[in-house]
Amino acid sequence: MAKLTPFGVELRKQRLDKDLRLLDLAEKLGQSAAFVSAIETGRKQIPDGYLHKISKAMELNADDTRRLRAAAEKTRKEVRVDNLRGDQRELVAAFARKLDDVPNDLMEALKKIVLKSIAGDVPFFRRRRGIIVPPMSTEKLRRFAEKIRDVFVENDQVEFPIMDVLEFKLSKILPDFFIDVETEEIMGSDEGRVFAGSNSIVFREDVYVGACRGNRRDRFTACHEFAHFLMHRDVKLARAREDSDKIYVDSEWQADEFAGTLMMSPRHLEMFSNADAAASACNMNPAAARVMWAKYEKEGRFAMT
Ligand SMILES: [Zn+2]
Repeated sequence: MAKLTPFGVELRKQRLDKDLRLLDLAEKLGQSAAFVSAIETGRKQIPDGYLHKISKAMELNADDTRRLRAAAEKTRKEVRVDNLRGDQRELVAAFARKLDDVPNDLMEALKKIVLKSIAGDVPFFRRRRGIIVPPMSTEKLRRFAEKIRDVFVENDQVEFPIMDVLEFKLSKILPDFFIDVETEEIMGSDEGRVFAGSNSIVFREDVYVGACRGNRRDRFTACHEFAHFLMHRDVKLARAREDSDKIYVDSEWQADEFAGTLMMSPRHLEMFSNADAAASACNMNPAAARVMWAKYEKEGRFAMT
């Protein structure tokens, strides 16, 4: 799983101070969001002349530029094991110190770290059938999504600003949270991923850009991944759901229910004449809106007339 470099931390901080999303900075630099994300997470080395470019694009003052340069230097000095992820990175550093010198107890500790990182490396791929997670009833999921809504938006706001929440508001509560954007080449058919124990949500680039621009399907996917991040990133050992298991313990089912509730809040139902009207007011795709509408009907959420 990715981690921000010192440069990534500083750049992100300054970016957020100026209300710039990953996408906004990428556009100012004439680069892709995945490229900027790769720089922030250290997947790519900071190119020559990049600081100057950023400083100009973000209109940084001398102090900010100095801080950014210091962070870049710190990042460049770090051991370059770029293709490895968090825990493994530490492991490589330890092994590099010569295997013979590693005491037995440290060896045991290292093994545990490796095993843990493997166990925690199960990403929540978007599938029909997810992995087993602690059960959550529909009612509980609705209440949870409504609570999350209350944290971030006013009661009368119908459209949930998922990308605004993920880019800016969430980090006010979880300072270490960040959005990670990966290329389509890396992600393949996965639109998003949340790794157990990680502080980030990974989006495939087209999904990230689409969600930023208000694409309805991508907005739903973003809410879906947000659900995994909130509910499932602490789930350690995972197994796929089988036929004999109830749907309530399925991570994908839970994430979709949460996303649907977040996008179309039961509290606003009386404002809409039908599912399609709800779809446009909530900025969600009509198919998803109709599914939610039918569920709310079944749950008796519409006042009798
Ligand atoms: Zn999923």
